[in-house]
Amino acid sequence: MRVPQPTERVPQSAESPKSFPALPVPRSETGRAALAALLADPARSLIGLDFDGTLAPIVPEPAQARALPAATAALRRLSGLVGTLAIITGRPAREAVAFASLEEVPGIVVLGHYGRQRWSGGTLTAPPPPAGLAEARDRLPAVLEAARAAEGTWVEDKGDALAVHTRRTADPRAALERVGAPLAKLAAETGLAVEPGRMVIELRPPGADKGLALRELVAQRDAGAVLYGGDDLGDRPAFAAVRELRAAGLPGLVVCSGSAEVSDLAQEADLVVDGPEGVVALLTALADALEAHSWPPGNVDVPEVTPKG
Ligand SMILES: [Mg+2]
Repeated sequence: MRVPQPTERVPQSAESPKSFPALPVPRSETGRAALAALLADPARSLIGLDFDGTLAPIVPEPAQARALPAATAALRRLSGLVGTLAIITGRPAREAVAFASLEEVPGIVVLGHYGRQRWSGGTLTAPPPPAGLAEARDRLPAVLEAARAAEGTWVEDKGDALAVHTRRTADPRAALERVGAPLAKLAAETGLAVEPGRMVIELRPPGADKGLALRELVAQRDAGAVLYGGDDLGDRPAFAAVRELRAAGLPGLVVCSGSAEVSDLAQEADLVVDGPEGVVALLTALADALEAHSWPPGNVDVPEVTPKG
């Protein structure tokens, strides 16, 4: 039987039950090489993914966010094929586990609060809340009032971090600008870091970011290839970490879950997919490809193509 190449476009049809959706083709040569490396040795590969906007559609109420069921299903399939699967999120780790049903994904590692927390196999490791957070929590209402925060601005208490959201205001971008400087001042005075995101500014513990978290996990697992996917400014350090690892010789692929809200992030990625639905399509195509075939090292040839977008 002829073995399709990993990026060959195989049409889906009722007549060919073994067909699988074509893997998207990274636009950069290094990205294509990384995808080939992942397919060649999945057991030594690491896939790291953000949660909100990547596995789960962005919703007005963060507590209502849920991973697309097909995302969890694809991760479940990949768990038996790829050496390390990790979710790296600004959320508390347990929340991401619950909102994506990750207890159904064997072996997955969930790094919460930008890597401060680690959940694996039902066990959570978490340091105590940072010094300064309690003071910031106490002062925050008065700071927002003094800033004349727009109606609809609200605070999400994440336990180890405080997120100020403006998505429900009449003009979310203007509302975010209005509170930006006062929140930065409060963070500086309480020893916290400022994390801007999609219609949200978060005050969180310093010293952790998704790049450090990813690099540490890659080292722990001795990964031979890495794919990281995210959608927001907080993913930038992880994108940078992949590029640094790549410069050091580790094949790495940056995937942007594209959105109109953070359009410039796409420029930093090797592959841009269309939001969480696109991420699901990518993960599913990877699972299809890895389940259907073994990819002998040296026999993975990713063709030159003109990328779209
Ligand atoms: Mg996100």
